[in-house]
Amino acid sequence: MAAPGPVLCLFDIDGTLTAPRQKITKEMDAFLQKLRQKLKIGVVGGSDFEKVREQLGDDHSKYGGHR
Ligand SMILES: [Mg+2]
Repeated sequence: MAAPGPVLCLFDIDGTLTAPRQKITKEMDAFLQKLRQKLKIGVVGGSDFEKVREQLGDDHSKYGGHR
Protein backbone atom coordinates (compact mmCIF):
# COMPACT_ATOMS: atom_id res chain seq x y z
CA MET A 1 0.00 0.00 0.00
CA ALA A 2 1.42 3.35 -1.04
CA ALA A 3 1.77 6.14 1.47
CA PRO A 4 -1.06 8.68 1.13
CA GLY A 5 1.25 11.64 0.57
CA PRO A 6 4.83 12.87 0.86
CA VAL A 7 6.88 10.94 3.36
CA LEU A 8 9.44 12.34 5.77
CA CYS A 9 11.54 9.82 7.67
CA LEU A 10 13.16 11.17 10.82
CA PHE A 11 15.92 9.24 12.52
CA ASP A 12 17.27 9.52 16.01
CA ILE A 13 21.06 9.91 16.03
CA ASP A 14 22.60 8.43 19.18
CA GLY A 15 21.85 4.74 19.52
CA THR A 16 20.09 4.61 16.14
CA LEU A 17 22.16 6.08 13.32
CA THR A 18 25.35 5.95 15.37
CA ALA A 19 26.60 4.32 18.51
CA PRO A 20 26.14 6.85 21.30
CA ARG A 21 28.31 9.94 20.65
CA GLN A 22 30.25 8.15 17.88
CA LYS A 23 30.69 8.85 14.17
CA ILE A 24 28.32 7.38 11.62
CA THR A 25 29.61 4.26 9.86
CA LYS A 26 30.18 4.20 6.11
CA GLU A 27 27.49 1.54 5.83
CA MET A 28 24.86 3.61 7.62
CA ASP A 29 25.81 6.71 5.66
CA ALA A 30 25.47 4.76 2.38
CA PHE A 31 22.07 3.49 3.48
CA LEU A 32 20.83 7.00 4.24
CA GLN A 33 22.15 8.41 0.98
CA LYS A 34 20.31 5.68 -0.92
CA LEU A 35 17.13 6.23 1.07
CA ARG A 36 17.14 9.99 0.50
CA GLN A 37 16.95 9.36 -3.25
CA LYS A 38 13.46 7.98 -2.59
CA LEU A 39 12.08 10.19 0.18
CA LYS A 40 12.91 13.06 2.47
CA ILE A 41 14.98 12.26 5.52
CA GLY A 42 15.98 14.17 8.61
CA VAL A 43 17.80 13.58 11.85
CA VAL A 44 16.71 14.27 15.38
CA GLY A 45 18.84 14.38 18.49
CA GLY A 46 19.38 16.02 21.79
CA SER A 47 22.99 17.09 21.16
CA ASP A 48 24.01 20.53 20.04
CA PHE A 49 24.81 21.15 16.38
CA GLU A 50 28.58 20.89 16.84
CA LYS A 51 28.26 17.38 18.24
CA VAL A 52 25.88 16.36 15.46
CA ARG A 53 28.41 17.65 12.94
CA GLU A 54 31.16 15.59 14.55
CA GLN A 55 29.02 12.49 14.29
CA LEU A 56 27.47 12.92 10.84
CA GLY A 57 30.05 15.07 9.08
CA ASP A 58 30.20 18.63 7.84
CA ASP A 59 27.85 18.12 4.92
CA HIS A 60 24.68 18.25 6.97
CA SER A 61 22.62 18.82 3.83
CA LYS A 62 23.06 15.08 3.25
CA TYR A 63 20.83 14.49 6.24
CA GLY A 64 18.12 16.96 5.44
CA GLY A 65 19.66 19.75 7.45
CA HIS A 66 19.44 23.43 6.81
CA ARG A 67 21.10 26.17 8.71
MG1 LIG B 1 18.94 7.84 20.95
